[in-house]
Amino acid sequence: MNGIAGDFSFVELLELLDTHSRMDLRGKTVLVTGAGSGIGLAISKAFLGSGARVLLHDINPAAADLAGELGAEFLAADLGTPAAVRDLAAAALQKGEGRVDVLVNNAGFQHVAKVEEFPEEIWTTMIQVMLVAPFQLTRALLPGMKQQGWGRIVNVASIHAVIASPFKSAYISAKHGLLGLTRCVALEAAPFGVTVNAICPAYVRTPLVERQIADQAKAHGLTSDEVVEKIMLEPAAIKRLIEPREVADYVLYLCTDAAGIITGSAQMLDLGWTAR
Ligand code: NAD
Repeated sequence: MNGIAGDFSFVELLELLDTHSRMDLRGKTVLVTGAGSGIGLAISKAFLGSGARVLLHDINPAAADLAGELGAEFLAADLGTPAAVRDLAAAALQKGEGRVDVLVNNAGFQHVAKVEEFPEEIWTTMIQVMLVAPFQLTRALLPGMKQQGWGRIVNVASIHAVIASPFKSAYISAKHGLLGLTRCVALEAAPFGVTVNAICPAYVRTPLVERQIADQAKAHGLTSDEVVEKIMLEPAAIKRLIEPREVADYVLYLCTDAAGIITGSAQMLDLGWTAR
């Protein structure tokens, strides 16, 4: 044999081909929620790059143009409304002709306030968007995955699914709940070839975090860089923000056949924060 192939034995070439196919997501239909921005957008790009068909969801209709430019299909819904989540699931199943292979529950938002001043309505909406909607989408899409004997659900939780910080009671309650949902559904789905995992990142450089940096800078009279260094990265071992692409690559890996033994897990992408 000549060229690169000449450097490998026949068995080694077969192993390489097998590894390649175990990382292949061509032919899969993927629904990513809250994908008009930040981590969800990076996840959508990563899946598109791997040859998957992406149903890009967001509340923001402006994301439709973005989806079109990327080669994804757009689905709009406000996950704060249970009926809209049911409609989203039905629309995704219709597009996927009865099945969605991969569900990435990513949409979310932050609100910072003392618990005794936390507006009840915002608290309830945060739980709906970040916990009830992932349950509703799982409930609707899991049967198709089970039926075909293969599926992947990735819940974008947070380091705040396992630790707490003050003034984020709704976010932390939702993310702790999402990890519980992940573990329970993982046990139910495992016999059917479906894995369910949570990813738990520390601070990722997205609009959600840029807004928090600006708010903290104002509140403490600090520069943006000082907020990142002195407040956000203080407990981290690796002193830098995470890039959305780094989270996306990890999510992509969890959805390959190569990651078929990982389920019910909280994947800590936390810069060494919880090693303390
Ligand atoms: P982002 O603000 O860039 O993106 C969030 C997306 O969710 C937006 O496109 C927004 O339109 C959408 N969304 C918000 N409310 C919605 C609703 N009611 N219905 C439908 N869509 C809605 O934020 P991000 O940082 O990319 O966050 C994505 C996920 O990652 C969130 O679940 C967040 O909790 C989680 N996360 C973020 C970080 C971080 O540091 N950025 C860390 C850990 C976990």
